[in-house]
Formats: sequence, structure tokens, C-alpha cells
Amino acid sequence: MKRHIIIHYNEIALKGGNRRYFETILIQNIQTFLQRDFPEMQFETKNLFGRILVSTSKSIDAEAENKITEILKLVFGIANFSFAWNFSRDLEEIQKNIWQIVKKEKLEKKLKTFRISARRSDKSFPLTSNQINQQIGSYLFLKLEKKFPKIKVSLKNPNLNCFIEITEKTSFVYFEKIKGAGGIPVSASGKALALLSGGIDSPVAAYFGMKRGVKIDFIHFHSLPFVSPASIEKVKQLAKITSRFQPSSKIFLVPFGNIQKEILINIPEKLRILFYRRLMMQISESIAKKEKYLALYTGESVAQVASQTLENIHATNEAVEILVLRPLIGFDKEDIIAKAQEIRTFETSIIPHQDCCTRFVPKHPETRAKIEEIKKAEKNLDIPKIIQSALKNMEIEKINQ
Ligand code: ATP
Ligand code: MG
Repeated sequence: MKRHIIIHYNEIALKGGNRRYFETILIQNIQTFLQRDFPEMQFETKNLFGRILVSTSKSIDAEAENKITEILKLVFGIANFSFAWNFSRDLEEIQKNIWQIVKKEKLEKKLKTFRISARRSDKSFPLTSNQINQQIGSYLFLKLEKKFPKIKVSLKNPNLNCFIEITEKTSFVYFEKIKGAGGIPVSASGKALALLSGGIDSPVAAYFGMKRGVKIDFIHFHSLPFVSPASIEKVKQLAKITSRFQPSSKIFLVPFGNIQKEILINIPEKLRILFYRRLMMQISESIAKKEKYLALYTGESVAQVASQTLENIHATNEAVEILVLRPLIGFDKEDIIAKAQEIRTFETSIIPHQDCCTRFVPKHPETRAKIEEIKKAEKNLDIPKIIQSALKNMEIEKINQ
């Protein structure tokens, strides 16, 4: 008996006129993710009254089941999914098949309790969900009782929960609901550019963008040849790990060494870091405008480090007009670390590397920047020229999974 994958999405998030649009993107993403790891298999996806049905060209063995589970847990927009058998709507047939499956797959452990959880998406089906539960439940009870005389029906935490979904033309049976990633399908909310350093925070910020359906591309400022190429490889690796949650991505690599030199020569020492940040924002904004990114994402969090006081975040923010999103703004470091571990970026983030901003770091950086002071110092820089030369020298690389 061949199994299919049945995927439920969070319907509340998809209510209203956007529903079709969300569903289409979700189906596309599911296809892309599965195909990425199973190039030899064909997947057919179908939208089936509020759920997505995925059928495969080869049957799903235990190894493939584990791999598919890992993949689908990365797809935002999925509330839960199951590996399901597909039958007709004839209850006699359904119950016989359920017993065959239970005999073959579920009897190795000692069963004390079970339940049937039926649902109809076709309300014209002649029996109600409760009546289906009762009919199939009694059939299964008689079968199970022979092997486990103390077996009971239990609605709470049963050892065996048999889900039955009756749709317009067929029925599905499964025994486990696997929790999905939640969120919104990537791309359904447009695209944005995430400023990616080699640290712990920025990949997590990018992840939260993706989780709300924003397709993220990355931008990294580096000081090659003044730092080792390994520091850039590390950032690309972080982009790659974070991009497991989306179909594809690219990274803009912007040389920043000469810009830093210019800041070193022209800007008072205590304002230097702020100017690094402002220029990173300005360069990112100008790429965003050209390439139609709707926002920038950063890993800033209030008061996490001396440079992230409200005054300094404002001073950085003030350099650009584009919407700057900071999903970690209210997070404690330990919560960011926990998330980084969960999304598997942490191990890479903590590898020591040379950050461009650790070059020429002032001994006493400004922690309460004043805009007037910044404006005055800024007169010594030709900002449009710096931006232009940064765009000219940047490289763009595709992040391959
Ligand atoms: P992270 O852990 O992400 O490095 P952080 O706590 O070290 O963050 P800062 O170094 O002050 O904070 O950087 C603040 C934000 O500025 C980063 O989260 C990132 O979004 C951006 N940023 C910093 N350095 C770079 C860089 N070299 N290239 C791109 N973005 C950067
Ligand atoms: Mg950092």
C-alpha cells in the first residue's frame, strides 16, 4: 500500500483574498525543497480542499520518510504533515485497511489505549465525524481486544491515534501528525536584504525574516585583502545554512577595506564605528533600491553591546530612508543563542574570524551619538562617491545548497 504526504497549513494565516497566492507559493516551495534533495524522484503536488497532497513516483521507505520529514520541517507555512494511506470513501474498506496496517506496523508495541480521529472536509458525507469514529472504533476495538484484552478507547494521549480524513472523492488514513515550521511561505511577503556579519545575531535575524514569508538575500562587508579569505568563507557558510529555509538565495560581497581607510583618515576616532555602520546601511539601501528589495534586516538588539544604544541605533538608522527591520530588538543574548543552535548556525558563528569592524576599532567608541556631530563629521566624506565605488567593486554569488 503506497503512502502519500498530506500537508496542512495554518489556515488562519491564509484567510482572505490572498489565500490562492499563498497556497501557490507554498506548493512551489514544497516542490523545490523536495526536488532539491531527491533529484531522482518525481513529486506530484495537488491542492486538495485546504490541504496539500504530495504523491511520489517511488514508494516512501523508512529512510526516505526520515529525509522527507527533515526537509518539510524547513518549509515555512506548514502547520503539520503526515505520511498517509489513500483509500476510497467506503468505510468497510477503510476499516479493513486500517486493521491491515495496524497489524503490520503498529502491533509491535504494547497497546493500552487507542482512538479514532475522523474529520470530513466534505460535509455532505452521510455520516458525521462522530459516527465514523464510532463505527470504525468498534470494528478496531473487536480486532485489538483479541490481542490486548485490556485495550480501551482513550481520547487523551492514546498509544495509537488513527486519523481519518474524508474528502470529496477519497479518504486518507494516518497515525502521526508531525509539527511543521509554522510561519508564512517564503516569498509570499516579498524580498529583503539581510546584513550578514560573521556573528551569532544576523543569521537569526535573517531566519525571522524568512519565517514571516520574506525571501532573504544577503549582503556582507569584508576587508579583503586585509583579512583572510577564510572569514568570507565563514559568512558564505552561514548564508548557506540559513538558506536551507528558502528555495534559493544570493549574497552581495562588498569590499569595505578602502572605505574604512577613508573613514580612518577623515572621521574622529570615537565616531568611526558609527560611520562603518551608516555606510553599510547606505550601500545596502542603494542596492535595495536598484534590485527592488523592500527592507533591510539587521541583527541589532537594544543595549546588547555598547554600539547598540538607542542613540546609536537611531544614528545608524538615520542614514537611510528604507525600512530597516530588527527582529531581535527585544531578545536577550541567551535566547538568540538558543535560536541559533536550533537553526544550526551557532556552531559556525562561533568559529573565530576577523570581522572587518575589528580593524581600526577605537578605544572609546561613542555610545550616545548625536546627529549634529555626525552631520558635521560627514562633510569630510564624499558619500555618493563611496557608495558608487562600493557598488562597482562588489561581487554577487549564488548560494548553492
Ligand atoms: P552579529 O552577531 O550579527 O555580528 P553583533 O551583536 O556583533 O551582531 P554588531 O557587530 O554591532 O552586532 O552589528 C550589528 C549588525 O550590523 C549585525 O547584526 C549585522 O546585521 C550588521 N553588520 C555588522 N557587521 C557587518 C558586516 N561586516 N557585513 C554585513 N553586516 C554587518
Ligand atoms: Mg558582529
